[in-house]
Formats: sequence, C-alpha cells, structure tokens
Amino acid sequence: MRTIIVGGSHAGITAAKTLKKIAPEMDVVVLEKTSTVSFVASSINLYLKGELADLAAGSVDTPEEIRALEIHLVLNATATKIDPAKQTVTYKEHTPAKVELQTLSYDYLILALGSSQFTLPFHSKKIAEQVLTYKNLAESQQVLQKISDAQDITIIGSGYIGVELAEALSTQAKKIRILERMDTLLFRYYDKEPARQISQRMPKNVQLKLDTPVLDINSTAKKLTVVTPLESFKTDLVIYAVNARPNSQLVKDQLDLDADGTVKVNDYLQTSDEKIYAIGDLISVPVAGDERRYVPLVSGAIITGTLAAENIVFGNRRIFKPMQRTTMSVVWGLYIGSTGFTEDQAPYYNLTTIAVEKEFTDHGFNERTGKKLWLKLVFEKNSQRLIGGQLLSEFEETSLINLISMLIEQKSTVQDILEAEYYFSPLLARKSHYLRDLALLALTKF
Ligand SMILES: Cc1cc2nc3c(=O)[nH]c(=O)nc-3n(C[C@H](O)[C@H](O)[C@H](O)COP(=O)(O)OP(=O)(O)OC[C@H]3O[C@@H](n4cnc5c(N)ncnc54)[C@H](O)[C@@H]3O)c2cc1C
Repeated sequence: MRTIIVGGSHAGITAAKTLKKIAPEMDVVVLEKTSTVSFVASSINLYLKGELADLAAGSVDTPEEIRALEIHLVLNATATKIDPAKQTVTYKEHTPAKVELQTLSYDYLILALGSSQFTLPFHSKKIAEQVLTYKNLAESQQVLQKISDAQDITIIGSGYIGVELAEALSTQAKKIRILERMDTLLFRYYDKEPARQISQRMPKNVQLKLDTPVLDINSTAKKLTVVTPLESFKTDLVIYAVNARPNSQLVKDQLDLDADGTVKVNDYLQTSDEKIYAIGDLISVPVAGDERRYVPLVSGAIITGTLAAENIVFGNRRIFKPMQRTTMSVVWGLYIGSTGFTEDQAPYYNLTTIAVEKEFTDHGFNERTGKKLWLKLVFEKNSQRLIGGQLLSEFEETSLINLISMLIEQKSTVQDILEAEYYFSPLLARKSHYLRDLALLALTKF
C-alpha cells in the first residue's frame, strides 16, 4: 500500500514518520518542492540572536534522517496535478540537469501543502522587492541579506512573528517600527494589560504604533514611503508579518474548500474525497466546541499529521479534538505564554468568564530571587471550567502553559485544579503550586 504526502514541512513529515512507525510495511512517499524538510520558519530570529550558526541548519530534520527511516523523500518536487478519480499525483522534479514530469499512483494521499504569508498586491516590481515575507529557507536567506543593508525596518503586524522578529533585530543599531491595526499587540493571545507589559520591555530603537493600519506603500528614490491614516514615513524595508493563507490552489477544483480557502475536512481529517486527507496549515481546526478557526501553528501541524496517519492505518478511529492555540516565546528577557481564551476574547464566543491573576515572587523554600512570575487563569462562569491561561515570567517556567492547555482539554473545573495532585519538594517547587493558589482565589469569586 502506498501513501503519498504532498508537502514535507512539519505536518507532512510528522505524518510520514508516524506512518512508518505504525505501518513499517507501507510505501511512504513525500514530495517536497523545496530542498529542505520541516524548516523552522523563525530560524532567522535564532540566527540573529546567535543561536544558529547557519540558516540552512534551521530544520527539525535533515533529508538524510528522513531517508534513514525508509521514507521515500523526493526533494525539489512540485506537485502540479492531483487526479482523485485515477488516484494519481503528477509532479515536476527539478534537478540541476533537467526538469522531469512524473506521475505516481496512491492508495491514500495526504495533503500537507501548508500556507504562505499574505502581502498586499503591488504593481511596482521595485516595491515588491523591498516588501518581504519569509517562511522557507530561500525566503529567509533573502530577508536576512536585505536586513543587513537596511537601517530603518518596518514590520507590519504585531503577532508573534512581528514581535519576535523585532526582538531579534533590536540588538542591532537599527530603527525598528511595528505597525499594528488593532489597539493592542499579540491580541489573539493576551489581554490588554499583559500585552502592555510586554510592550514596555521594548528597547528605545523599537517603536510600536497601535491603531495604525497601512493604507499604501510607495517607492521614493531608494526608500519606501509607508502611508498610514495619521502620517507617512520613509523606511528601507517592509516586512509583512500578518496572517498566513492556505496553499489550497492546487486542489480547489477537485476538493471542497471552506469559505476561508482552507480544505474542508471531517473530524477524521478526510477531505471531500475519502482517500485524501488534509493536515496542518491547509485546514481550519475546531477551537471551541464545533467552531472551526484558522490556527496556523506547528502544534496543530503535529497533531493533525499524527491523526491522519493513525486514521489511514487503523481506519478512522481518532477524531480531532478542539485546540487551545497554545504558544510560548521569550522576548526581551520575558517568557510569555498563552493557551485557550483570553478574557477579552471570551464574549465573542458567547462565554461569560471569571478571571483570576496573581504575581508570584517566591519560587521555592530556599530561594528568594525576587524574579517575578505573573499568571492569569480564565474560567467559564456557569460550568466553572478552565478555558484560558496567560503567563509572563522573568524565569523559565514554560511547562506551566502545556499543563494549563491539558487541563483545559480535559475540561477541568476550578475544583479539579484545587484538588489536583502537585508534587511537593522544598528544593524544586513553591510551597503551594501556582495553579492551586489561583484556583483557591477563583473559588471565592464564583
Ligand atoms: C516567520 C514565521 C514564524 C513562525 N513561528 C512559529 C512558531 O514559533 N511556532 C509555531 O507553532 N508556529 C510558527 N509559525 C507557523 C508555522 O510555521 C506553521 O504553522 C507550520 O509551518 C505549518 O506547517 P505545515 O507543514 O502545515 O505547512 P508549511 O510549513 O507551510 O509547509 C508546507 C510545505 O509544503 C510544500 N509545498 C507546498 N506546495 C507544494 C507542492 N505543490 N508540491 C510539493 N510541495 C509543496 C512547501 O514547500 C512546504 O515545505 C511561524 C510562521 C512563520 C511564517
């Protein structure tokens, strides 16, 4: 039996590895149009911070590691046609010597075509060359080269991509400007107050402009002019760090798509053709009950890659559970993490909430470092269930966010969290667990 996977990034490679693990006899073919697999899109930040010697090393796996698992990996291979009736994929393989067109049949097909970053369409080539996005290795190399020539850089969007890039660039003697159309940064992940605390950490060479949509970008001499409602200013380089769009063009005439352009899938990740599964950034995922949203994250790529492989091998038995959009980062010395709903978001999902927050300064029996950890939990008022958590910390306590994510997934109530078993060790932990303290606080509010 053969499964072809189109797209060799986080989702596709996870599906391929899982298939080979649970069905070693299966012929697993991965077609990937670039020359890398599972490239980490934020490698540029690691490189700028000196944590990666070479951008080309910014991949989770190497092609050699994947081939050693007996996965048939074809690089520089762009799928150009899917024929669901004949169960074939046609692809163009670019080798230095020639471009070859090949057709391969499948028993199952997994689409892991991912997404591309959005930019405004520009008529002038000159502007297009100075207004960039990046995700794969080639795009990241191009952006890195342009960054080194630029003194004044404008980033559009204050989501994780924009904020992390600004942080990585801020150690250089450059002027960085972040333009955000909303009135707060990282608005999908943090309430306004923690977002303000994150922005207060920005050094002087980073300027955050909220409530500032970009109306136009023009080219003047060697500079670009960015036009916003209140002002226009000159800059050397614009980097778009806004929403991703699914790469569903290839299958738009063969498979059903959702209104947002993602490929429509059922709970088992099957598309409108039962032999074809779709995963990762190509699909929308359930976030609250049955509601589906576009959440382009590596965590979702890994979950959906795993589930599609299991469902192909064992016959649709695992359904996709709602995601919490769990994220974690570290910017300007502050660990920031979020999962589930924020208090600000909840009303848009018709949820009434009780929220509790606390700043902790003591982190163990013998330790009084003075370093702070701030934690917020959001509960749904009627059910008393945990629905969200946000963390800002001056020290690394990042696994708390994964724990909160799992408590949300397991529909834990305030009482469950209060009565949970937390280990006790005077050398390693606080006298009372962070979550226990907050649950106790919350209990008094219901
Ligand atoms: C700058 C940046 C930073 C990010 N940082 C983070 C982060 O820190 N944490 C996080 O969780 N998420 C992050 N993300 C989001 C994350 O990168 C995506 O959610 C993730 O890459 C999705 O994986 P995927 O495999 O579904 O799709 P993609 O990574 O988009 O991969 C799709 C693959 O398919 C290939 N492909 C496309 N069309 C064809 C074709 N016709 N034939 C053959 N191959 C094809 C592409 O070359 C690509 O390799 C970031 C995104 C960006 C842009």
